[in-house]
Amino acid sequence: MKINYSRRVKHYNTSKKPLRQIKLFTWILYVGSKMIMAFQPHKIEKINMEGFERPYLLLSNHHYFVDFYLNALATYPNPVNNVATIDGYYRRPFLMEWLGCICKRKFTTDLGLIRSIRYCFDELKSVVCIYPEARYTPIGTTAILPESLGKMVKMCGVPVAVLIHHGNYLHTPFWDHDHARKVKLHSTLTGLLTAEDVKRLSAEEINEKIRKAFYYNEYEWQKNNNIRITESFRAQGLHKVLYQCPHCMTESRMNSKGTEIFCEACGKRWEMDELGELHALEGETEFSHIPDWFEWERAQVRKQVREGIYHFEDEVDVYSLPAAWRFEKLGKARLVHDMTGFTLTGEYNGAEYCIHRPAKGMYGLHVEYDYVYLKPADCVDISTDDDSFYCYPMTENNVVTKLSFATEELFIMYKEQKQEEKLKKRQALKKEE
Ligand SMILES: [Zn+2]
Repeated sequence: MKINYSRRVKHYNTSKKPLRQIKLFTWILYVGSKMIMAFQPHKIEKINMEGFERPYLLLSNHHYFVDFYLNALATYPNPVNNVATIDGYYRRPFLMEWLGCICKRKFTTDLGLIRSIRYCFDELKSVVCIYPEARYTPIGTTAILPESLGKMVKMCGVPVAVLIHHGNYLHTPFWDHDHARKVKLHSTLTGLLTAEDVKRLSAEEINEKIRKAFYYNEYEWQKNNNIRITESFRAQGLHKVLYQCPHCMTESRMNSKGTEIFCEACGKRWEMDELGELHALEGETEFSHIPDWFEWERAQVRKQVREGIYHFEDEVDVYSLPAAWRFEKLGKARLVHDMTGFTLTGEYNGAEYCIHRPAKGMYGLHVEYDYVYLKPADCVDISTDDDSFYCYPMTENNVVTKLSFATEELFIMYKEQKQEEKLKKRQALKKEE
């Protein structure tokens, strides 16, 4: 059941043909990025890029908005068609189109996207830049990459380069976009696969190569390069990703201030040192390496998923983005996330609606902490082919990170089950023979 919009609401057409980025625009982007980055120490290193000619596919990791400027600097003078999500088009769809962006909604299977990408390679002979993690890194480590990447690369048959940024997350972590820390940025653009490699390797082998090239861990990077973050607010916001207390196990009662993160249920406190390590002020330090704490939380959610008892439910405040011009205020609704996936039910304009996204078809979840466009609170975005629903939990606090873990773990479990079934069928067929 869709939303009963009035006639004036027109859905944005994401399958529009991308425009060629004119030379002047490529140059303006380059000069603009140079100017913006003039006072921010950064370095762009290029490996295996000699003779690497467009069209090619560029895969970039994603920490913060600054990635776009660095990508423009790294790829110059090539025209680039960026795959961007609809919220990036918010209030400026024409500009995004002129820049040659390809519009997509997050974590949906979009056949039009492949068509647009192929058009860029075949007709425009440009560089297509994709951020396959599809969102800012929550904890400074590689996120789940879509399985379909290898197949897509095979289908396009173009060379693949990988751009890995370091420092951008440490500079402006996703959980605290309000304050920047002084950190030097370092980006590496590597020519990963030639067109011949792409022809020769299987989709799985390509996925494996991309996964390896995409490895990054910002806290390791910080320690290895002795990057000292001396700002007195360095831990502020960290509780948004470290939402569960490893001492008393309570969820969503963590908080942070200054250099400390603490549990409001049991009172335990940890200090974040200048090299990004955590130390308990009293008693055992459960996790000194921040991503370990994060992965421990994921393991707790995985357990609930595997036991089949995972369930989340709350009243949510919903805003939708059918077109890129404005958010529509849909008001209160009920959001349920359980073993079947997401279900959003509500009423708008005198008609009931129900949006369901099955867990099997959603490998990740778009979450926002203190989302800038609407109201400064955490939300999740549930997208369909032609609409996006930004849901703000009303009674539950600090839950969106858990929802994103659950989305990923449900997807992994169902994928494993499907593979097992396939294997069983194959074995049964063999026996019959
Ligand atoms: Zn606690």
